[in-house]
Amino acid sequence: MDLESVKSEIDRVVITETQLQSRLKEMAEQVSRDYQGRDLLLIGVLKGAAMAMADLARLINSHLEMDWMAVSSYGAGTKSSGVVRILKDLDRDITNREILIVEDILDTGLTLSWLKANLESRGAKSVEILTVVRKPDATKVDIKPKYVGFDIPNEFVVGYGLDFNERYRNLPFIAVLAKHMYS
Ligand code: IMP
Ligand code: MG
Repeated sequence: MDLESVKSEIDRVVITETQLQSRLKEMAEQVSRDYQGRDLLLIGVLKGAAMAMADLARLINSHLEMDWMAVSSYGAGTKSSGVVRILKDLDRDITNREILIVEDILDTGLTLSWLKANLESRGAKSVEILTVVRKPDATKVDIKPKYVGFDIPNEFVVGYGLDFNERYRNLPFIAVLAKHMYS
């Protein structure tokens, strides 16, 4: 969906499609280098990471596997609840696997710190995190993603996988949702 179609619903674009794609390419090159000779398993966190996973995986120049988890920490609103539930678990055993979690956004970090600990407890060899965007609050928690696409201001954003009530995931850019859409 293009910018024209949502012009009255968003406040401004914070990351353009071009910026997103070129940063993903850089990160994919880093990942390719860092995981050279290792057996990489990308774990995408549904549904937000679907776009990043699809684009990133195609830019990584080595064999890899993909699996998916669905967890929920948000309800239908814009505030983090802190409650994490597994809605869909991995298909395979991850004992001794080298895992890179692919996420759309790191906000309070509650979801990712829980998920990282969960995967480590299953015997993974390594668990690192790649997030497309990171909000300021994330720097206060003890979670250090190995790859961060962009640091963004503390506003509610949509697009490129990020939703508001399940909509806007199909925007190819990331934008601040207009206040009148949720207040
Ligand atoms: P955290 O646990 O606070 O880090 O939030 C994790 C989840 O909250 C993300 O995977 C998103 O689904 C959602 N989230 C946090 N901030 C935003 C936002 O600005 N827009 C859309 N979803 C968000
Ligand atoms: Mg969400």
